[in-house]
Amino acid sequence: KQLVFSGVQPTGNLHLGNYLGAIRKFVALQESHDCIYCVVDLHAITAQLVHDDLPGQIRSITAAFIAAGIDPKQHIVFNQSQVPQHAELAWIFNCVARIGWMNRMTQFKDKAGKDRENASLGLLAYPSLMAADILVYRATHVPVGDDQKQHLELTRDIAMKFNMDFMQKIRAAGLGTDILVGDEPVHAYFPMVEPMIEGPAPRVMSLKDGTKKMSKSDPSDLSRINLLDDAETISKKIRKAKTDPDALPSEVEGLKGRPEADNLVGIFAALSDRSKADVLKDFGGQQFSVFKPALVDLAVEVLAPVNGEMRRLMDDPAYIDSVLRDGGARAGARAEKTMKEVRDIIGFVQ
Ligand code: ATP
Ligand code: MG
Repeated sequence: KQLVFSGVQPTGNLHLGNYLGAIRKFVALQESHDCIYCVVDLHAITAQLVHDDLPGQIRSITAAFIAAGIDPKQHIVFNQSQVPQHAELAWIFNCVARIGWMNRMTQFKDKAGKDRENASLGLLAYPSLMAADILVYRATHVPVGDDQKQHLELTRDIAMKFNMDFMQKIRAAGLGTDILVGDEPVHAYFPMVEPMIEGPAPRVMSLKDGTKKMSKSDPSDLSRINLLDDAETISKKIRKAKTDPDALPSEVEGLKGRPEADNLVGIFAALSDRSKADVLKDFGGQQFSVFKPALVDLAVEVLAPVNGEMRRLMDDPAYIDSVLRDGGARAGARAEKTMKEVRDIIGFVQ
């Protein structure tokens, strides 16, 4: 079975973007893949060092994973800081990656804002920890939202440079396999990861601004639908969501240049497991006054069970912590196997 890895930061309220772009895909992949899902708490301190309730945030992401339908017995659910091999490999990748690569990352530019000199070094190095998260398991498939595409390209660049720079040593240690990268045969230790981004809502946008992604860290709560919002709040937020005055088009092409309409149709499509074209067959020519209430009903219907189960699980932190410890132990054993080999390849005496 192919190995899937993905992570979510415990940086605040999970929202519909996290659900449609990531968590729902995590659930779907369990049948066909071997899956490792991580609450990436080391990443959570890159943009903001001190959190009011980091343990609570970690537990709530874990609860969301399980509430959405991830099976922590069949697969692995854990928090990153319990497996120090992630940070160890990230250090090595900091020495593989080039500063210029990191400076080109748009997420760094967005999150660092104008005062870039004052951003943490960890925020700049974020993508090398993310590469380590994936490659410490030598995972090959990574379900993420569209905003993570550039980081996954960088993960491939890091893997490629490591494979090339250490090719002789990888061979000498009797490790690695021959893979084709383009037409070039490479004796590789780390695989080239495949991003899994497809679907009708790979990038859910803010309800207040169709050009900005929906984000946990957006100061406006009206910009996002949280997984823990009740039906009334979901209804209020969708009713207040920004739109244009026109009716919905009957073809997908008609959504061009209408980011808010495109976003709401994409959300409807993803929530109902249909394509946007299919949704427009039903709603083309209709006003938002008709479409929005239908979207409210659908969103409430899909999210209410997850919300209820999440709340139930969060009342039992001892259970959540036991899931994380068990997952951490199983993940740690796998990660250590890789790290032993990596230390050998590099030449660290152990
Ligand atoms: P933060 O603002 O703290 O970065 P976030 O909302 O971006 O929070 P992350 O924990 O960084 O959440 O991302 C978790 C997963 O959710 C990733 O796979 C990411 O691509 C996905 N994701 C985040 N926002 C969206 C969105 N608006 N649409 C689709 N997927 C998203
Ligand atoms: Mg993010």
